[in-house]
Order: sequence, then structure tokens, then C-alpha cells
Amino acid sequence: MLGEIKGLNEECGIFGVWGHSEAAQLTYYGLHALQHRGQEGAGIVTTDGEHMKLAKGHGLINEVFSQERLDGMTGHSSIGHVRYATSGDGSYENIQPLMFRSQTGGLALAHNGNLVNAQALKNQLEGQGSILQTTSDTEVVAHLIKRAPHLPIDEAIMDALTMVKGAYAFLMMTEDQMFVANDPRGLRPLSLGYLGDSWVVSSETCAFDVIGATYERDIRPGELLVIDNDGVKSKRYSAPIQRTLCSMEYVYFSRPDSNLDGKNVHASRKRMGKSLAKEAPVEADVVTGVPDSSISAAIGYAEQAGLPYELGLIKNRYVGRTFIQPSQELREQGVKMKLSAVRGIVEGKRVVMVDDSIVRGTTSRRIVQLLKEAGAKEVHVRIASPPIQNPCYYGIDTSTSGELIAANNSVKEIEEQIGADSLAYLTPEGLNDAIYQGEDDLNHGGCMACFTGNYPTEIYPNTIPPYEKA
Ligand code: AMP
Ligand code: SF4
Repeated sequence: MLGEIKGLNEECGIFGVWGHSEAAQLTYYGLHALQHRGQEGAGIVTTDGEHMKLAKGHGLINEVFSQERLDGMTGHSSIGHVRYATSGDGSYENIQPLMFRSQTGGLALAHNGNLVNAQALKNQLEGQGSILQTTSDTEVVAHLIKRAPHLPIDEAIMDALTMVKGAYAFLMMTEDQMFVANDPRGLRPLSLGYLGDSWVVSSETCAFDVIGATYERDIRPGELLVIDNDGVKSKRYSAPIQRTLCSMEYVYFSRPDSNLDGKNVHASRKRMGKSLAKEAPVEADVVTGVPDSSISAAIGYAEQAGLPYELGLIKNRYVGRTFIQPSQELREQGVKMKLSAVRGIVEGKRVVMVDDSIVRGTTSRRIVQLLKEAGAKEVHVRIASPPIQNPCYYGIDTSTSGELIAANNSVKEIEEQIGADSLAYLTPEGLNDAIYQGEDDLNHGGCMACFTGNYPTEIYPNTIPPYEKA
């Protein structure tokens, strides 16, 4: 008997191309631009209209695909995935895209998000005789689609999507069509663009820039796009409701050169820094950011505070994200390898150290120590998002409640634990204003559940975050 369904799709990146002679090569470049969304596995599926090919493996996109392997991926269209599974089953089968073949044809799926009712649906499917081969929640969706062979595929997909709950950005492909879906709340980012006569879809718009594609629009919440040689058709499988795009995408996860809902991520982070400087000013000499994700917020803080922004910390770019390291001990080691304080800049100074977020507190503690070892007189930590007090059920690994430092400690206690001279966070209102700048249309207000505990979807009584299931 296979294990429990694990949401193994945390924080992934998806990319697809329809109708281009170099589809696989473009998908490779697109996934390369999305590599920050997942470094554990990568895969590409192509179609030439009749046959589909799949290649995938563990590691970074350039480790999985040699030029020779990529050249073998012939076809006019393709979908791809980079995977960030922080815990649980890292097996080959779970690397995406997942590919299913049946008498009615092939179906490839690439998913970013987490389905909160996957386990209940899996039990139901197994009760009806389905045999699931992976522990990925994405396979549940494939089974829901494939068990309705009498329906046209787009209808079968829409039926399946009405049954799954949670957060999902989906790219699916058959021999002759591509399907693009965003959940009814649009929790995860997903954009449509074009390159000449070809259509491209990406988790983030930075991938469009890399391949010279033009952004068209974000996929709407509850929308299914059907793309084939006749063009793009938009269908709706859920009534329009307010979009609650993940705020952590703005805070940390997306690349600064991406636009989410038309808003540039770097500019949003800068506004977060400015709001933080207004909410939590401090007497200091210099402002520094933690490379790379908090540089934008640190620049905003410095600008607002009228203090010099300096490179007080340098990152060695050849060390992976600290978060990926499995143990606390290794994580601490990772931070040490990854960052150095610049003595010439911080020595004798009162330093404001801006970071985008605190999860476990490991990074902040280590950085305060690094800055003090390099001679900083005072270190004032300013966090450009509110305290993360609740787990995420929607595909971002913000750790288990037990590990979230802010779930169990007051700001004062965290300040002591990380050894800072002072610590302050941005308020939820400050974050919301920095992102949405008072917009009052339907898009106003993203998901802030990990900060506020106010989850935008139903959370099933037995829903536990994917990373707690491992
Ligand atoms: P920690 O050391 O556990 O407090 O991690 C905090 C650092 O991890 C911050 O500096 C963020 O840049 C980064 N971070 C925040 N959220 C996540 C996440 N969901 N996955 C990976 N890294 C994250
Ligand atoms: Fe994003 Fe937090 Fe909402 Fe999860 S709970 S989707 S990390 S804002």
C-alpha cells in the first residue's frame, strides 16, 4: 500500500510553450529563469501532435538536461516544471511533469500549489478501484480527469478542478492541446504571454523576458485556458471571486524582475521597506540588506530613512538556499558558507539589517552574529513582512508551527534569541498597502494567512501542511 498523499509541489515553477519549433529549448530557458522556485528536480514533456516525450530527473535544470537530451525532445509544444520539495518523498516518480498514458491518449501535468483535500479524494478514488502510482497530489487530479473518458477532455478537466480544493496553478498537455488553470482564488501566480505566433505560460513573468516573449495577462482565478493550433480559448469553471494571490510571492518568493498582477516585485518590496522605515524608525548609521531577496526592501528602508544603503553582507552565489538543508545543524553551516559581513563597512557602525522574513530565526541569528563579529556597534533587525505565525496550506513551505519562531515567541523574545539590539516587523496593514497601494478593485487584498491566520479557503479538519506529513 502506498503512503499518504504528500503535497510535493511546494513553491514550484511551471512553464509551457505552444506552437514553436524550438519548444523544448525555450522551456529549458524558461525553467532556468524559474530555477529559484525549485532546485530539487526538473522535467519537460513535449508533443509533436501525435506523440509525447518525457524527460526528467533530480537536480537543477542544467544538471537534468544536457544539450543532447534536450535535442531529443522534439515537438512543437511542451510543458516543464522545476520542483522544490522540502521534505517527504523525493523519489523520481514524483518529479514533474507527471505523465499518464491510456487508451484515450496521453496526459502530462505540471502543478504548483497544494491541494488541501487530496487525501480525501485519494481515499475516494482508491475506494472506487483506482491504483495510484505516486504519492503526489497531482496524480489525484489526473485520475479524476481520466475516469471520465466519455467527456470531452476540457470538460473532464473542469469537472476535476471543481472537486479539488486548495491552491493550484496547473499546466496540462495532451498530444494536441494544452490546458492552463488557476484555482478559484488565484493563490499562485501564473501568466500568459506570446512569442511571435506561439503562446507561452509561466509561473513568473521574468521567464518571458529571458526568451523575448511579451506578457499578455495573468491567468484569472477559476479560469481554464485551452490552447491548441486554433488559438487560445478561455473557459470558466468557477464563479468569479476575489483573487487572494499569495503575499509571500511579493515578500520573498518571486524574482524582483517579475510582475505579479502587473505589479513589479522589486518596486513592491521597496515600498515594504519604506513602510517599515515609517513604522519602525531607528537611530543608525547604515542600512544593509540580506542578499538577494531583501535588497529591494533594504533600499526602500534606506531611502525613506535618509540613511546610506551599503553592502554590509556579501553572498557567495554558489551555495544553495539555506532552507533546503535538511537539519538545523546543516542549515547553520549553510548560512555560514553563504554570507559574509563586510568589516570595512560595518565596523564601529550602528547597522539596520533588513531581511524579508523570519521563518525559524536561524538566518537572522547568524547574521546578527556575523555583523557583530565584523565589528558592528549595534544591529537593528527590521523585517519587511509581519511575523509568520501560521503554517501555509497552499504550497509554500513556511515550516511547521512548531518550528515557526513567531508562532511560539513574542517579538521581544525573538529579539533576544537572535541577539539583536532591536527587532521590528512590518504590520499586515503596512504589507497590504505596500503591495496594493490602496487599490479597491476586485484584486485588492492577497492571502496573508501565514501572518494573520485568516485562510482564504476552507481548511479541511484533517488538512495538515504537506511538510508535516513526511
Ligand atoms: P529562517 O532562517 O528559517 O528564519 O529563514 C528565513 C530566511 O529564509 C529569510 O531570510 C527568507 O529570505 C527565507 N525564506 C522565507 N520564507 C521562505 C520559504 N518559504 N522557503 C525558503 N526560504 C524562505
Ligand atoms: Fe502565501 Fe502565506 Fe497564504 Fe501560504 S499562507 S499562500 S505563504 S500568504
